[in-house]
Amino acid sequence: MVADDAAFVRDFLPWHADVARDWLGTRERFAHAWLIHGAAGTGKLQFARACASRLLCEQPRGHLACGVCDACLWLRHGNHPDFRALRPEAVAAAEGSAQPDADNATPSTGKSKAPSRDIRVEQVRSLETWLNTATHRGGHRIVLLYPAEALNAVSANALLKILEEPPEHTVFLLVADAPDRLLPTLVSRCRRLPLGLPDKPAALAWLAGEGVGNAAAWLAAAGGAPLAAARLAQAGGEPCPAWLRRWLQAVAAGRANAIVPDLLAELEKQPPDTWLDTFQRALFDLACVQAGGSAHYYPGLADTLAQAGARLSRVDTAQAARWLTTQQRVSRHPLNPGLFTHAVLLRLSGMAAS
Ligand SMILES: [Zn+2]
Repeated sequence: MVADDAAFVRDFLPWHADVARDWLGTRERFAHAWLIHGAAGTGKLQFARACASRLLCEQPRGHLACGVCDACLWLRHGNHPDFRALRPEAVAAAEGSAQPDADNATPSTGKSKAPSRDIRVEQVRSLETWLNTATHRGGHRIVLLYPAEALNAVSANALLKILEEPPEHTVFLLVADAPDRLLPTLVSRCRRLPLGLPDKPAALAWLAGEGVGNAAAWLAAAGGAPLAAARLAQAGGEPCPAWLRRWLQAVAAGRANAIVPDLLAELEKQPPDTWLDTFQRALFDLACVQAGGSAHYYPGLADTLAQAGARLSRVDTAQAARWLTTQQRVSRHPLNPGLFTHAVLLRLSGMAAS
């Protein structure tokens, strides 16, 4: 499955099997902190979980956990004494954890409030006592932390302190899409394990196995990231959203401002980060087409992209793309989603009208 809230994961995704075999086959893994990073939607978390399962397994088979020993069963039931997962409450909630994680030591305030999107300093500090005791099973102790970008300045510094005096037998697995957003001193304490995009045939074969139709178009729309492609396909709609086609056609016709109300009604129904991603990819494609290349994300819109690209200057496209990046930060906490959507549409359509 694409998402799995169980800590135990036996299998690696096909494109990770070789790197897992290499990594688990060397003593290098005994570095105390690893930063597993690469493009979003490629299965890094599954990789990290399968590695954690394999490292804790008491009867491993090659690079895989056995799935039946005590350690594997404890992990499967979420009570392995030598394993902790640190993730924001919002991520735990999205994964379907009904209870606050015991390992997060979240104090119950009795108040209901939005789950935190940060890995909080209390979560990091809750590791300290545990790290100072001997491992229960005499093997590894694993801390799986994701996404590492969710560490705020305070919790990142608390983790840094721990990593400066690494506890024995402990392996930290930090999973991140964007290591450049992490505290540089924290990154410098980790060994890096980059995981690249799978090659296209492997990604398409996996998507076919997951029952995703029109896999090539979904994979392109997700920038080559198969799990992201599967999630997009699952969410419904089509790989090239109809509203994007309409917007590009309006840009090409020099009347982008006229369809702002129409698009506003449609986009207000979606989470901002979804349609912002789509715009960002479309602007990337516009830039590619304007530079004489071909569309990367939306090859199905090649003609419309070419017509829209001819209407715009390359400078306008580049400036709009940069501006959109700044809006992605705002999109996570817009004060007024409707106004935010309107402002973005006006900015982008204004570029097209100039
Ligand atoms: Zn096992």
